[in-house]
Amino acid sequence: MSLELIVGPPNSGRAGAVLERVRAAVDRDPVLVVPAADDATRFEQDLCRDGGAVGVTIRTFAALVEDVVALTGASPPPTLSRPQRLAVVRAAVAATPLRALARSAHAPGFAIALDDLIAELQAALVSPDELRAAAAGVEGGGAHERELAELYAAYVRLRDGAGRTDAGGIALAAAAALRAHPDAWGSRPVFFYGFDDLTAVQLELVRLLAARTEVTFALTFEDRRALAARARLYSELREDPGADAIHELERAAPHTSKASLRHLDRHLFETDAPQAPADDDGIRLLECAGERGEAEAVGLEVARLLAEGARPDEIVVALRHPTADGPLFAAVLRGMGVPVALEASVPLDRTAVGRGLVTLCRAASEEGTPADLIAHLRADPSTPPGLVDWAERGLYRGRYETVADVYAGWEAPPRHLARVLEAGDAAERLRALAATARELAEAPHRERAPLVGERSGSTPLDPIELRAGIAAAELLEELAVIGALPGCEQPDLADAAEAIASTTVPAWRGSTEGRVRITSPYRLRASRARYLFCCSLQEGSFPNLASTDPLIGEQRRADLGIPALRRAGVADEERYLFHVCVSRPTERLYLTWRASDDEGQPAPRSPFIDEVLDLLEPGAEKRLKRTRGLAHPVPEPHEAPDARSLARALALRCGTDTGAARDALAALDVDLETAGAVLELLTGLPDPEDMPGPLSNPVVLRDLASRRLLSAGSLEGWIQCSYRWFVEHELEPERLEPPADPLWLGGIVHEALSRLYADPPGADSLPRPGDVGRWKRRFGELLDELVADPERGATTPARKLLAERARRQVEAFLETEAQRDTDLRPRRDLLEVGFGFEGEDGEGAGPLDLGEFALRGRIDRIDVAPDGRTAVLHDYKTATKVTGRSALLREGRLQIQLYALAAQEQLGLRPIAAIYHPLGAGRSRDRRPRGVLLKDETARIGFDTVRGDPVDEETFAEELAKARELARERGAEMRDGGIKRDPIGGECPFYCTYQPICRLERAIGLEDANGGNGEGA
Ligand code: SF4
Repeated sequence: MSLELIVGPPNSGRAGAVLERVRAAVDRDPVLVVPAADDATRFEQDLCRDGGAVGVTIRTFAALVEDVVALTGASPPPTLSRPQRLAVVRAAVAATPLRALARSAHAPGFAIALDDLIAELQAALVSPDELRAAAAGVEGGGAHERELAELYAAYVRLRDGAGRTDAGGIALAAAAALRAHPDAWGSRPVFFYGFDDLTAVQLELVRLLAARTEVTFALTFEDRRALAARARLYSELREDPGADAIHELERAAPHTSKASLRHLDRHLFETDAPQAPADDDGIRLLECAGERGEAEAVGLEVARLLAEGARPDEIVVALRHPTADGPLFAAVLRGMGVPVALEASVPLDRTAVGRGLVTLCRAASEEGTPADLIAHLRADPSTPPGLVDWAERGLYRGRYETVADVYAGWEAPPRHLARVLEAGDAAERLRALAATARELAEAPHRERAPLVGERSGSTPLDPIELRAGIAAAELLEELAVIGALPGCEQPDLADAAEAIASTTVPAWRGSTEGRVRITSPYRLRASRARYLFCCSLQEGSFPNLASTDPLIGEQRRADLGIPALRRAGVADEERYLFHVCVSRPTERLYLTWRASDDEGQPAPRSPFIDEVLDLLEPGAEKRLKRTRGLAHPVPEPHEAPDARSLARALALRCGTDTGAARDALAALDVDLETAGAVLELLTGLPDPEDMPGPLSNPVVLRDLASRRLLSAGSLEGWIQCSYRWFVEHELEPERLEPPADPLWLGGIVHEALSRLYADPPGADSLPRPGDVGRWKRRFGELLDELVADPERGATTPARKLLAERARRQVEAFLETEAQRDTDLRPRRDLLEVGFGFEGEDGEGAGPLDLGEFALRGRIDRIDVAPDGRTAVLHDYKTATKVTGRSALLREGRLQIQLYALAAQEQLGLRPIAAIYHPLGAGRSRDRRPRGVLLKDETARIGFDTVRGDPVDEETFAEELAKARELARERGAEMRDGGIKRDPIGGECPFYCTYQPICRLERAIGLEDANGGNGEGA
């Protein structure tokens, strides 16, 4: 009957005009069509607020199509679900001979991209024949597009052959039925609001409805750059023969009292636009550092708005890519106690349920690895974590080769895996997976009903996991019946894993009332916000100028010459979306971006920010911009959004000084309840005095004091860091992973050398120039034996490489040995000789007496001269460098000197050198030994020495005496339990992983606050 167009720029009162017409038509059963379910809720509220909601039906476009189908009596065949469509698409690919697309068709994601393209072609009313014909006209023959047309035709054939239809087919069927039964709809007027783009089939439905009843279409458009992306819909509707009334709205009463926001709305992207002042607090700029830093800065602003009285649903965070960026913003805001609704979809395999299923698919397949099964068990809340830790330990230690090895000693295989393995065929396997999906989602709640609220008490109800469980189960059940479709192969585990990885679940479902929305500009088109944060304004992200279609790019679409396939220019679309963000807020617009990433690397901001600044008076950036850099990890006390953040802010300034904190709280005028919570948190902070420190338990102290025999190696460990010693020697945490590779290597190299010298392969007990080759070969054999010994741990490829390198390094050492001109020789009884390990019968050398206690140790090798007394002590290190004499005590190295004393006092020898060998130096580095040597005896020892290491007799004795004194002093501390976080040199070595136990980092914060140096122990 008629098509009335209501056209106007944003904020021209289109919504009011539509609602007015809807109300006027209420006695004729009007239908209002809006883009999304959320918009329907908002319109319902608006209608209710002013009366007149009764009798109005609010629908989305998809629901309108269903209504048309029902009213016209059309009976389309059953619809293919998305997984079923994908299966038919895959079957079409398999059934179509391809040349130009042969390689792409095997790439992961091809079927998904083709399915999207087919849906787009259907919505654009482009048939396979039309695409084929258009491709023939493309320069060069359009082989690529012709094959796409063949695939499309094959899909339609297979779909129809299976007696099914799809969403595109339903829309076509609705249009055809309405054409055939024009009176079926009756006279109910239809109103469209919030649409700024329609597909060809949607447009056809609008026209068909308009031919029979009153249709009103409200459209955002104004002839300007910011809205150029929507010019096509406007011209198509305007030129429709049924368009008999066009109401061009002027800007209505201002949507905002802020002149700066009105100015942006009207002039954004216009050339030669005037500049306006920005002194009404309508615009703020927030420059941040790092992704989390930006989310926290936005969270603080949101919290401040809420504290000032704003309702959460008056605030919107707009993100160009909410699926990628939204979860972080949502997590940070939730952490600050702000209720949020993240309007984005999360990939199913990023949920715990999805992860558990994908890893189960892998573990149950022929290529499954032990790591897959362990990853699955980790994602299964019903598996005790201790059991998984134990399994993971075995994995690190190389105990498993197959999936079955992991559960070889268990009573039964893990139940989800067993269920999949026992299934008779592919369809049953998928049904077993579907049952697992539900169980994985429900496991945390078993025996914990009722489930109330988002997180009720100890029941960790996570709605997205439940949604993921349902979505995955439905998906897998649908996949299980695909084999019944003609021409389609039954999917199996690998297909299931791919299908899960390409499915998403909505992060939020339901009304957004009472919540801060985190959403995309597309979902903002039909709504308004009092405060709008347009975030992550980075170059390359917003505007996002990347091409969006992997199969037919923009240029090829132009070449094909099918108008319905042309898209608005990418740049026009991005400008339009940014204008949507700028035109929605009524009170304030926040533009936020990151000037750097988390590491401080510069990150360029979006050029759209400069477009905004170009419309404002000079100097606006300086006035409007707040900066929150990497140096502000903790909010200022006045901006802290909750008691916890305030406690953190005050802890930084007042430490645990509650008096100072009380004064600060009073100055901030904090309410009593919050102040109480903050003080409770502050007093709960560990006092510096309570930090890990000297042991005080009398039982432990008694035990330590009773230790008369200490090990020289352990004492050296104490000197390196007494806390590390405490963890390693006393707490002895059990490691999941095997010993670090360097430790493993040190063990086998020492043993191979010891065995080599104990049973020399030549006539001499030292390698000589004539037989060094034999020594090297023998060393290689011994090393190989030890590497292959399973008792010493798994031989990983990395370890094999290390061992191979060590073999070459020791060969270089043996070559040096062969060149030595010395009368000293290794003595078999003095290889790995111990002191302080006497047996019960008193055999063996006694310990080194240090007064209150004594030391024991094991010396790698002692060479002795023909006089039977003159001796050189050797200690092998697999490092590339060892410590020289002058730095020994400074670096806490006293083992070799103490060994020299023990050799002297317990073995009756006269040491003339105590030296470390840097075996890791190999041939390319300085491999001279370092330590303490008697200057007068260096020629006899036969090694090249480093200046400073050889000393006279008096200094030699002094070095040993100083080591004895230090050992006495530090040994006494050890026996007193005086542990501290005192890494030698004030710096923790990179390999020490005990911070979570010694709590060094936490200590730094507190010591700072109390005037400490904060630079580490
Ligand atoms: S982290 Fe530093 S202070 Fe803590 S145990 Fe290790 S070396 Fe010692």
